[in-house]
Amino acid sequence: MRKKHKPDNACPCGSGMDYADCCGRYIDGEQSAPTALALMKSRYTAYARGAQAYLLATWHAGTRPQDLDLAAAPRPVWLGLEIIAAPPAAGDGASVEFVARYKLCGRAHRLHETSRFVFEQGRWFYLDGDVHPARKPAA
Ligand SMILES: [Zn+2]
Repeated sequence: MRKKHKPDNACPCGSGMDYADCCGRYIDGEQSAPTALALMKSRYTAYARGAQAYLLATWHAGTRPQDLDLAAAPRPVWLGLEIIAAPPAAGDGASVEFVARYKLCGRAHRLHETSRFVFEQGRWFYLDGDVHPARKPAA
């Protein structure tokens, strides 16, 4: 019998690693995410953990919102992240396609997005993203 052990400190990005050894290194630590994919995962984790300052700090100045209130209701509960595609960076740009699942007001949703990232001043920043339309539910 194999019991799947998921410790409380497991990183929300689903890596199976401890938060402190995974996205926590970028969110709470001094390191900046080495790749667009690592940044994308850490930003998902920051949403899941309510790390607003990190989200704003890793958002490109040209597209960053003035303010971000993650505590505002209704507040989504993030359930999991699935990386669909993370092609190698092309020069200073990279994209990551993912599906993030969350619950809002008791209903399950999935966000399918291709995010764009840009490398500037030695760091990756989130630029913007295209949301893929949700599949129509069966009638
Ligand atoms: Zn992580």
